[in-house]
Amino acid sequence: MTDVVVVGAGMAGVTAARRLVRAGLRVLVLEARQRLGGRVYTLRDVCNAPIEAGAELIHGPRAQTWPEVREAGLSVRRNSHGATATMIDLGEGGRWLPLALAHPQAWHAFGIFRRLATPQPHDISARHFIERCGYRGRARSLAEMVFTSHLPGNLDDIGIQGFIDDGILELETSTDYRINEGHDKLIEHIGNGIQVEFGFVVRTMEWFEDGVVIRDVAGHERSARAAISTLPAGVLQNGAISFRPELPEAKRTALRQMVMGPVLKLIMRFEEPFWPRRLAAVYCASGPITLYWNVFYGAGGAMPVLTAYCTGARAAALAELSEEEVVTRVLEDLRRHFPRGSRRIIAWRLVDWSGDPYARGGYTFLRPGARGARARLAAPDTGRLMWAGAETATEQIAATVAGAYATGLRASSEVLEALNA
Ligand SMILES: Cc1cc2nc3c(=O)[nH]c(=O)nc-3n(C[C@H](O)[C@H](O)[C@H](O)COP(=O)(O)OP(=O)(O)OC[C@H]3O[C@@H](n4cnc5c(N)ncnc54)[C@H](O)[C@@H]3O)c2cc1C
Repeated sequence: MTDVVVVGAGMAGVTAARRLVRAGLRVLVLEARQRLGGRVYTLRDVCNAPIEAGAELIHGPRAQTWPEVREAGLSVRRNSHGATATMIDLGEGGRWLPLALAHPQAWHAFGIFRRLATPQPHDISARHFIERCGYRGRARSLAEMVFTSHLPGNLDDIGIQGFIDDGILELETSTDYRINEGHDKLIEHIGNGIQVEFGFVVRTMEWFEDGVVIRDVAGHERSARAAISTLPAGVLQNGAISFRPELPEAKRTALRQMVMGPVLKLIMRFEEPFWPRRLAAVYCASGPITLYWNVFYGAGGAMPVLTAYCTGARAAALAELSEEEVVTRVLEDLRRHFPRGSRRIIAWRLVDWSGDPYARGGYTFLRPGARGARARLAAPDTGRLMWAGAETATEQIAATVAGAYATGLRASSEVLEALNA
């Protein structure tokens, strides 16, 4: 008899499973894909070094995954050295960040960080917030980028309070790091030795006060004394899983209060670099792409590889096109930023997370008025079925790998308590 079934072998799932195995329980992880990692997905066929198609960066020094990175013996490189390595396009093509910010109209927007760091009396949308601040012109473009560069949604859907509670300001202003050996190596380290049944696509979950029964699309059944769901919010919202009894109203409301937005990455390897040597990233207020980055920034003698990162409406628009059309459009856009150079592309990979049936989006943010939704989704209010996954993160920056890790630890503690183990 299995003691605990963990649904999903992403960061939250492997973290929870390892903890429960270490506590002496018999644990089975059910995973729809044929690999570990979920939204951590490292490619090794674009060039002879690992490239991230999913989660890429460790955000800041507070990430709870740092001890695991060290224990796994992994090395990291810094993502950027700040303003001197960053370009910004406020609608007139890429300019170095200090140059773009030298415009007096932009100065007005600097106060946004202070304003967002102070508690807001009422939750409002990002659009309402920007209007209330009175930003115009370049200041407005900058303010809009604060909300939509990372979050995959539009200004009306993004709630200010969720933005603050989720720690997005910390994410946007902290120093980030890439794992040289690949983010998947961190998952492999944590997931080493746990029992995973790959290709098990969960369809129904029955929860009781003393156990759970889980079935896949073909009716195969796995039962256990307890379970942890790490299913992404997109999968839960989509209705792909039936719960018996139905989930409590508080959880269903919490799911409606989050948006699992589209995120798409186009990874491009070029014959030679046509961007300045010191470039880490280009932030774009307009055009088809939200952000470009130099994947091997900080890695001496590395490959000319750029990632085009696209969120929200821009990602949804690109997802409508064929792969070749996306590449053509992105190459045209790159010409706008870097008119010189050959831009001869040798290899590319397009990964659209909203089209992925086991993610159904990149990551979540909270709508206006959704304060506390992550805690409500996380609540252990469904008998022996507990809840983890990045969407339930409240201690770390939400919707990140470190957030998922923290939820795996939290949910495994809840299981241990429920089983008196
Ligand atoms: C493009 C992109 C870039 C990102 N960049 C960063 C970054 O730089 N830094 C960062 O910290 N975070 C980043 N994130 C977010 C990060 O990837 C996630 O928050 C984190 O990996 C989520 O982990 P998880 O275990 O909660 O969920 P997941 O990794 O999604 O794991 C859930 C698992 O459940 C499985 N599953 C789904 N449906 C079923 C089913 N029906 N039956 C069985 N199994 C199922 C999935 O296959 C998956 O393996 C990024 C995400 C994306 C998409």
